[in-house]
Amino acid sequence: MRRDLFDEEHLLFRETVREFMAREVVPHHARWEKDGIVPREVWKKAGEVGMFGFSVPEEYGGAGITDFRYNAVIVEEIIRNGASGLGFSLHNDVVAPYLVDLTDEEQKRRWLPGFASGELITAIAMTEPGAGSDLQGIRTTAVREGDHYLLNGQKTFITNGVNADLVIVVAKTDPAAGARGTTLLVVERGMDGFGHGRNLDKVGMKAQDTAELFFENVRVPVANRLGPEDGRGFFQLMDNLPQERLSIAVAAVAAAETVLEQTIEYCKGRQAFGRNIGSFQNTRFVLAELATETEIARHYVDKCIVALNAGELTVVDAAKAKWWTTELQTKLIDRCLQLHGGYGYMNEYPVAKAWLDSRVQTIYGGTTEIMKEIIGRSFGF
Ligand SMILES: Cc1cc2nc3c(=O)[nH]c(=O)nc-3n(C[C@H](O)[C@H](O)[C@H](O)COP(=O)(O)OP(=O)(O)OC[C@H]3O[C@@H](n4cnc5c(N)ncnc54)[C@H](O)[C@@H]3O)c2cc1C
Repeated sequence: MRRDLFDEEHLLFRETVREFMAREVVPHHARWEKDGIVPREVWKKAGEVGMFGFSVPEEYGGAGITDFRYNAVIVEEIIRNGASGLGFSLHNDVVAPYLVDLTDEEQKRRWLPGFASGELITAIAMTEPGAGSDLQGIRTTAVREGDHYLLNGQKTFITNGVNADLVIVVAKTDPAAGARGTTLLVVERGMDGFGHGRNLDKVGMKAQDTAELFFENVRVPVANRLGPEDGRGFFQLMDNLPQERLSIAVAAVAAAETVLEQTIEYCKGRQAFGRNIGSFQNTRFVLAELATETEIARHYVDKCIVALNAGELTVVDAAKAKWWTTELQTKLIDRCLQLHGGYGYMNEYPVAKAWLDSRVQTIYGGTTEIMKEIIGRSFGF
């Protein structure tokens, strides 16, 4: 079915992103995978072609356009090129709403131009060694002392954790108040007592820096708090999680489409028993099922993008998109790998890398089980 999500401007922007990927990313990505990190200069080059901060108002260096279709174009092109090292969606889709919507004038002037130019790389630190799904169980604390907060704690699995210049840290300002005692603080590179641990050794997404972060008596100025001093940080997170989950769903469908196309091509060329493997009924049935599910997923996710743009995407709808598309992605890639036979297990085949890169999709941004909890709770049990 025809995809009618995009206008002419989005298609033109897609060309720009494609050129950028072909020039600045694809030729280097294998090296970055060995290095375990993407060089910071790549972020600046992406900023120069306008890949960051669509929703940042023009006066602060952005495009002033709140239209998630542009974000989706970037995610899709990154995925289609297997460029899993680029933490751009974390910056654009996850962090941007906090820095655009929750900042005051002075903070906007301080952070948004660098955010849009790619000079300031961002991260968000919610997860701790002892609390991931159960975010209310975090133990990092921020105690107000005059014009600053004293921040203590530890975070883990933080995307862009090594490269980040600005980290939004979720901390308890009133541990006795539960969800109502949480605050978001922006911690900046170079603050005394703030450091990161080793770049974590992951199963896939080898070029993406993922790190532990440590905060030891970090004096975070009150001027770095996002929003008023009302302990509503947990609710600010809840407001923004649907966009994060939709971004993950966009990546899931793009990955499913890409691997499916590659597998169909492979099945046309590979021979067994004197025939193309695509001529076996099993191959055709597997591909038929996966193509059907992927197309249905595509239309649901596109509808979610339209809903997000209209301010109507609910937490429940985003949870549905997140768990269903990511489970489809991992199942599809596994079955496509099977159709590649032994070659599918070789790293030089894109399906092998997609298999490794995709596994985390059902985990981060809220696990499949947590998504089902969110949906299940909506029935009023
Ligand atoms: C590569 C990577 C990048 C990440 N990037 C970031 C980042 O940038 N920022 C950040 O803050 N975090 C990040 N995370 C953390 C991620 O969001 C968490 O790993 C995830 O939310 C799960 O938390 P956990 O690992 O503590 O698992 P746990 O919460 O310990 O869950 C373990 C298992 O128990 C299940 N479970 C837990 N609670 C329930 C329940 N109530 N009902 C049923 N089952 C349940 C889970 O579904 C899971 O299967 C990242 C993780 C990875 C791996």
